[in-house]
Amino acid sequence: MKTIGIIGGMSWESSALYYKNINELTKQKLGGLHSAKIVLSSVDFAEIERLQHQGDWLQLGEILAAEAKRLEQAQVDFILIATNTMHKVADVVQNAVKIPLLHIADATAKELVKQKHQKVGFIGTRYSMEEDFYIKRLEEQYGLEVITPSEQDRDDIHRIIYEELCLGKILPESREIYIDIVNQLQAAGAEAVIEGCTEITLLLKQKHVTVPLFDTTYIHAKAAVDEALKTLF
Ligand code: GLU
Repeated sequence: MKTIGIIGGMSWESSALYYKNINELTKQKLGGLHSAKIVLSSVDFAEIERLQHQGDWLQLGEILAAEAKRLEQAQVDFILIATNTMHKVADVVQNAVKIPLLHIADATAKELVKQKHQKVGFIGTRYSMEEDFYIKRLEEQYGLEVITPSEQDRDDIHRIIYEELCLGKILPESREIYIDIVNQLQAAGAEAVIEGCTEITLLLKQKHVTVPLFDTTYIHAKAAVDEALKTLF
């Protein structure tokens, strides 16, 4: 099997989920005591968050590119950036190494297209909801129509991610806020909603809403396992 390289720690709460999902999916496919070959490079999220809020994406790109090179030196076969937001610097990371980067938006879009969804809601950090690097990719490369919550709702989603979910705080009152926002997206015509931040799945699960949820943490992990085991099946 191939070795998966993960740039994680953004936050580690979701990196832990990647680790679990990837190993569980590998076990499901191969059975017995099989588990995934992984090299995890985990950053200090406080530094990352500070630079994000300062808008220093140049330096963020350099930090993640250095992590990617480290993974390449450790002879992984391909790389995951285990966060949606940091795909803002995906091109910088990809250009720093020769091995492929498995892009989280591509994995997610392919799943949506496979399930014949066209108009979809998207929730994530402000960066992912408001800037072009993610949503434009879904729209231009996969023909999806993406809708996002109102400004006030985007604020709430963003705040809850950084002040609660990335710290492992799972609060029922915040879940109610998310449920309400997702229901509004459904009422506005979303056939599915993308959980476009890798911690959201800690708070909001399919059982809480009726619209199909696309959990990017799980989808990205599954795409990695498919790639790692591709030559075996
Ligand atoms: N993990 C989150 C995401 O998927 C947000 C944390 C970060 O800024 O990377 O977007």
